[in-house]
Amino acid sequence: MIPEIELKSPQEIKLLQEDKLQELMAYLAENSPFYKKVFSENNIDVSDIKLLEDLEKIPVTTKDDLNRFNNDFLCVEPSKLIDYVTTSGTTGNPVFFGLSDKDLERLAYNEAISFACSKITKEDTIQLMTTIDKRFLAGLAYFLGARKLGSGIIRVGAGIPELQWDSIIKFEPTYLIAVPSFLLKLIEYAENNNIELNSSSVKGVICIGEPLKNQDFTSNFLSKKIKRKWNIDLYSTYASTEMSTAFTECEYQQGGHHHPELIIVEILDENNQPVKEGGDGELVITTLGVEAMPLLRFKTGDIVKAHYEACKCGRNTLRLGPVIGRKKHMIKYKGTTIYPPAMYDLLNDFSEIENYIIEIDKNEIGMDNITIKIGAIESSEELMKRLKDHIRAKLRVLPHIEFLSIDEVNKLRFPGINRKPILFVDKRETYVD
Ligand SMILES: [Zn+2]
Repeated sequence: MIPEIELKSPQEIKLLQEDKLQELMAYLAENSPFYKKVFSENNIDVSDIKLLEDLEKIPVTTKDDLNRFNNDFLCVEPSKLIDYVTTSGTTGNPVFFGLSDKDLERLAYNEAISFACSKITKEDTIQLMTTIDKRFLAGLAYFLGARKLGSGIIRVGAGIPELQWDSIIKFEPTYLIAVPSFLLKLIEYAENNNIELNSSSVKGVICIGEPLKNQDFTSNFLSKKIKRKWNIDLYSTYASTEMSTAFTECEYQQGGHHHPELIIVEILDENNQPVKEGGDGELVITTLGVEAMPLLRFKTGDIVKAHYEACKCGRNTLRLGPVIGRKKHMIKYKGTTIYPPAMYDLLNDFSEIENYIIEIDKNEIGMDNITIKIGAIESSEELMKRLKDHIRAKLRVLPHIEFLSIDEVNKLRFPGINRKPILFVDKRETYVD
């Protein structure tokens, strides 16, 4: 189930996107209170926006816009809304998203072709290990996608390894949808309860929320740790409520494939200018075919790199590499730009390190400071030297490193009632998009 357009040439893909862009511009000018205002304030004649290159004439939309003018993004009568979703906003107030019947149909199509990317067919059964309620969109998208594709779907929801295994043994799903670190919990449960992991029905997992690959598409520490015990295929998928579109890996696992009928992708630098082909930058998206709350040049806040070579699977669409970091977490350190996940990867390479936390603050002259606090099983000068050499070699700069006791680091990682550990504390001024 590969949409025909994805097998066409990059030029044909661009033409299709430009047709859809023109439709979108006319639709927004007619129906969107927010974009009507943007167009009039910036003297934009929507009929001038014909090519993807013309997008640069339109201001970007920020998360703050979405937060402050939330209801102005709605293009349909509220009575046309079927599903109500919220996401966390920039001000602490949640941002509302409404989906019409047509939007749910588009979402189902998006997820069906994304599943198909990861080789799921109607013969497969998928076990859903994420939340489907609480105003989240992801779980619903997976359900609708499975239904559209004709695959079975078992809605177990998040957590509870015992119930997950009960369901795997009873219904023999071939794929799971899960947060990859939860797979470690499933492995642990199986080991403690004499469940033979590698003779289970599970062939593959669609992994959400955490990266599994390094930027060169080699497996990261988490992925290796899972696969050492459980021989299954791990496919990454990347999506968000605002995009209403997923970027999912194919069997060659070289980044998440773009679905050009559904979304326009731009990768922009700090001045909202396109980066050179293959450079890192902020993912900026324009939704196509969304009826209730379409977005034009929306800044996602995620730093990514796109890959443009044709893929061995036959698709000619661009692929997004693993998210490099969040733009608001960008650190400028001694002339080098660093995102925290790059440091996690380096620290995870050391089996002697039990836990760590990275703190960022500003020094007296306003420059970013990085302190890595490490709880090691056995701290020694020799370990410190190897750490420093490794970090200097990979990051080209050396942050300040301190050894603390494992307990002390744990206290920093679990402040208050957090259930998930904090790996990164940003003590700089709050960043506004
Ligand atoms: Zn591919």
